[in-house]
Amino acid sequence: MAYDSSFFQNRDCEYFPCHETDDPENFNCLFCYCPLYALGRRCGGNFRYNERGNKDCTRCRIPHERENYRRILSRYPEIMALAREQDAKLARGPEAKK
Ligand code: SF4
Repeated sequence: MAYDSSFFQNRDCEYFPCHETDDPENFNCLFCYCPLYALGRRCGGNFRYNERGNKDCTRCRIPHERENYRRILSRYPEIMALAREQDAKLARGPEAKK
């Protein structure tokens, strides 16, 4: 069997599948923690902010749908830009965080 780096399942995970699905065979665990979380409101997913200010992604299956691998990867330049902005702010010191 060819190794496919775009899809992975961990059926031994106690939470599998961690989101409701009618297609468990194609439930992708590769992006277990969604890389798009860092994009905040721009992630494109179906989320809400909870009372603690964290995103509740219970209703979103974007990172777990097999066909979304390239969609997730295509957002990495935005995530990388975010990291660069944060690093630049840190380099400028505490005043820049405001
Ligand atoms: S799981 Fe969905 S809603 Fe949550 S961060 Fe990822 S894309 Fe956005």
